[in-house]
Amino acid sequence: MTYVERYADIKGTEGGLRVRARHAALDVLALAQRMQGRTERALSQPRVQFLYIHHTFTDELAALERLVEELARTHTFIPYSEAVQRVQQGTMDRPYLCVSSDDGFRNNLDGARVLHRLGISACFFVNPALIGLKDPERIRSICAERFSLPPVRFLDRAELDELAHLGHEIGSHTWEHHHMDRLDPEALVADIERTRSTLIEWVGRADHFAFPYGRFTDFTAAGYHAVMAAGHLSCATAERGCHGNSAPVPANELLIRRDHIILDWPMAHTRYFLATNALRGDAGGNPYLAA
Ligand SMILES: [Zn+2]
Repeated sequence: MTYVERYADIKGTEGGLRVRARHAALDVLALAQRMQGRTERALSQPRVQFLYIHHTFTDELAALERLVEELARTHTFIPYSEAVQRVQQGTMDRPYLCVSSDDGFRNNLDGARVLHRLGISACFFVNPALIGLKDPERIRSICAERFSLPPVRFLDRAELDELAHLGHEIGSHTWEHHHMDRLDPEALVADIERTRSTLIEWVGRADHFAFPYGRFTDFTAAGYHAVMAAGHLSCATAERGCHGNSAPVPANELLIRRDHIILDWPMAHTRYFLATNALRGDAGGNPYLAA
């Protein structure tokens, strides 16, 4: 079986008129925001913004380096644990960025090496059941069903160890990337505890959690409370937003927002998205606490 190694191989399937129209519209929006000086102003605001970079295929590595170098001119990149701590303590004295990724694709390691060379520590949220997966048919069906992707290689145990040795954090992303909102309460708790204890056994720690699929509706209040009860220090979504409120947030109330970035996007578009979320300021509440 052939595995996808280049983003160009996936991107080819999403082209077409609608994509080009959206691209052109973003060009206009980004230019307008920039000309009004709002992009620069937004990106210079003290805050913690979490970047979520799903994949770093071979043809995306140069863009990763460019993005980091560009953003590092006006931001300080900090490790995930420090980012969480700053949000919890309300110590956002300047613009901070933090990088994370989910699902444990093999290409994460290539991105991790680039980040390490640039002096950046990221957090990789992984599923223990997918680490070291070699069966081509299982990989094909999992990638199709859970990631809407053609077959992509997953990290194996040695590669996961290398990530940790490079100074990156490893976080929990559930046992095998099920829809957690569809599990009964006992299965939910068992999955979260098993994932964390396995990762601790493998790499020594698993302090943070991100739930699969990432929309608020993909998780539940019961899930959130189970995550914190299992000993995690934070729980993350893939909902867009920015932590710009300088008031401290208690650990058991925090819900991290992350801004998804595709490295293939023009820099102006990425800056536009980050600035738009930075301008919104406070990330908002935690919908799982109301229940
Ligand atoms: Zn995921």
